[in-house]
Amino acid sequence: MSTLLEQARDAAKQAYAPYSHFPVGAAVETDCGVFTGCNIENASYGLTICAERVALWKAISEGATRIERLALSCIQAPEGAPAESRMPCGACRQVMAEFLAPEAQIEIDGVGVITLAELLPQPFQLGTPSCLGKTQP
Ligand SMILES: [Zn+2]
Repeated sequence: MSTLLEQARDAAKQAYAPYSHFPVGAAVETDCGVFTGCNIENASYGLTICAERVALWKAISEGATRIERLALSCIQAPEGAPAESRMPCGACRQVMAEFLAPEAQIEIDGVGVITLAELLPQPFQLGTPSCLGKTQP
């Protein structure tokens, strides 16, 4: 059985990154199992999506209601590359704040484990969702 980080590394192999040549993989552990994602770029750069959001949206769209933790790997980051080059972008941090608890652990390959609250101490919020991922009828 592979670890969540190993699954993130595997997911990075599916990355579509012809522009950045920087494949990234993510894996999330949920109440419905593990979901993975990779970055998917587009010639219209603004349409590019990060691995973390692909994994999170796959999980939510498949019925996950609790995201326990997330692992992330930039598999081609050079040895000794600074931590900031491996960290989630601001958009992904905000999306994580929607679905993960502040104390949820985020494992970043080559960096270590930190909490979401450390990654994004003051996320934007519009109140507390009554039930994660489920809209009221
Ligand atoms: Zn991102």
